[in-house]
Amino acid sequence: MTTPVFQNYIDGTWQPAHNGQTFPNHNPATGELLGHFPLSAASDVTAAVSAARAAFETWRLVPAPKRGEILYRVGELMTRHKEELARSMTREMGKVLQEARGDVQEGIDMAYYMGGEGRRLAGYTVPVELPNKTGIALRDPVGVVACITPWNFPIAIPTWKMFPALVAGNTVVLKPAEDTPLSALCLVELLYEAGLPRGVVNLVFGPGKPTGEALLQQSHVDIISFTGSTETGRHVAVEAARMLKRVSLELGGKNAVIVMDDADLDLAVEGILWSAYGTTGQRCTACSRLIVHRAVQEKLLAKLVPRMQSLRLGNGLDEDVDVGPIINAKQLAKVHNYTALGQAEGATLVTGGAVAHLAGELAGGNFYEPTLFTGVQPEMRIAQEEIFGPTLSVLTIDSLAEAIQVNNNTKYGLSSAIYTQNINAAQRATRDITTGILYINAGTTGAEIQFPFGGTRGTGNGHREAGIAGLDVFTEWKVVYTDYSGKLQKAQIEE
Ligand code: NAD
Repeated sequence: MTTPVFQNYIDGTWQPAHNGQTFPNHNPATGELLGHFPLSAASDVTAAVSAARAAFETWRLVPAPKRGEILYRVGELMTRHKEELARSMTREMGKVLQEARGDVQEGIDMAYYMGGEGRRLAGYTVPVELPNKTGIALRDPVGVVACITPWNFPIAIPTWKMFPALVAGNTVVLKPAEDTPLSALCLVELLYEAGLPRGVVNLVFGPGKPTGEALLQQSHVDIISFTGSTETGRHVAVEAARMLKRVSLELGGKNAVIVMDDADLDLAVEGILWSAYGTTGQRCTACSRLIVHRAVQEKLLAKLVPRMQSLRLGNGLDEDVDVGPIINAKQLAKVHNYTALGQAEGATLVTGGAVAHLAGELAGGNFYEPTLFTGVQPEMRIAQEEIFGPTLSVLTIDSLAEAIQVNNNTKYGLSSAIYTQNINAAQRATRDITTGILYINAGTTGAEIQFPFGGTRGTGNGHREAGIAGLDVFTEWKVVYTDYSGKLQKAQIEE
């Protein structure tokens, strides 16, 4: 069978990169070559931005309820194609099928939620200080949105950006991660099947350099909506600042589960396994620190470690598999380096810590054993840096105050969890934990799309995605005063 060659989607037509270059897309579980995608350069990106710019002039005038209806149809199409989207995602990036279905479901939820916003998109009106005058605040679209997305939620994250952007009347250029181009392509196909006019969403493939970089340099892009690593995000912010562009950043995490001495330990074990080893630890909300009270640490680990050791590694398409591969060989090497670093820092490797060599068709896959360190000190690099793999560091504490202090003491601030039966402890944690998301008696992952999503400190730049807050990035406030007094009235001056 010949390997398929895919194309960019610009102004309603499929087209190769102008220079004809391509890059390969591989299955991380098997090494199978899935396809070739255009390695887009600056001229391709400029064409995509020009198409989006031109389409903006008509799309912004489509009534918002009609824009919402298209999103609603996208939700229906995604529901109809959920299984094939999920399977294609698992082949492309490895997460187990159950989680891939969840990833698509997040997109479906976002389609319906933002589709509904077509009939809300609420501004507001409040009283004005002068007689015979009104004031209303409206949400206007901003223009062209550049969406740059990572590989770990290849359907969900593009929908979190594109759907609020579209319902608000903006047009889009999407550059998905080079490890997950196919999922983005399938999504964009459904958008057009749902009736999106040409040029409203444009898709360009390619790596950070040159493709993503070229998108940052476009003067006709009004907003950059970026999700990825903190390192790349900082660069995106600097480039955006140079051109005074609006930029929204969703970046890394170093999320913790706190287990107090009164916690339901069996419940905590379930939450830790799901948060730390689900998606092979490759979620921005993955738990990579376990902050546990000394009084229950031994008992907790006695329950947790055997469960970790029984997790089944393999091809995510196999329904019995718990943990899929790491996305690529570079990331596998990074995860393994952190194991060596943890040992060099003096932490104790309890289990895992090795590349897993699986047999048969999985011999070419990037697998890593679920890993756990104890004796980790808060200042160690394995307790501070995002590893983005199946590695969990255990930090021992003696009080709630210490747990909160350790939890807050990283440069990231995305998600935290606390297991306790004590309502006072839960309330104190709610008040004092400084992450954007907090779970009480549940693990660090599981955000729902109707709430704001994002984090503090190095996890972002203060914006939120999803929920009503997700619309703030993609809209500009416009205030309209209407004076029907028939005379000049002076605010702040007239009595
Ligand atoms: P990454 O930063 O390597 O890449 C993200 C995207 O940026 C990709 O599309 C990539 O091609 C592009 N890119 C890279 N260099 C660029 C450049 N110079 N200019 C423009 N674009 C460039 O991140 P990744 O490895 O794909 O994703 C993993 C990271 O994403 C982790 O740090 C994870 O925590 C983070 N993440 C955050 C969230 C969140 O909502 N906070 C969600 C998912 C993932």
